[in-house]
Amino acid sequence: MSSVLIVDDSRTSRRVLKDILTRAGYEIVGEAINGKEGYEQYARLRPDIVTMDITMPEMDGIESLRLIRKDFPEAKVVMITAAGQKDKMMEAVKIGASEFVSKPFIEETVLEALEHCLK
Ligand SMILES: [Mg+2]
Repeated sequence: MSSVLIVDDSRTSRRVLKDILTRAGYEIVGEAINGKEGYEQYARLRPDIVTMDITMPEMDGIESLRLIRKDFPEAKVVMITAAGQKDKMMEAVKIGASEFVSKPFIEETVLEALEHCLK
């Protein structure tokens, strides 16, 4: 069973992702509500995969991705994007994001992205 850390400031997004992933057999080992918490939980939990929202208060997903990949270059991070974030996506690719999933979530797309990460 692969472990996942969900980082998103939206309670609804966290719940939807958690439902999709739990149904598919993933273990949700942590949830964080901003990039700073996400980084701290990553360092503590070392999950197989992180889902990382981009727009969050305090520290956004790009900065959190940067910190995680600096300390843990093997980290697999799926970026959660919204419309109009092309520049942020390009930046995330440069920093080493593994995959991208856009909101609103489509179950099949979410699962495909995580499967790609694990290959
Ligand atoms: Mg957000």
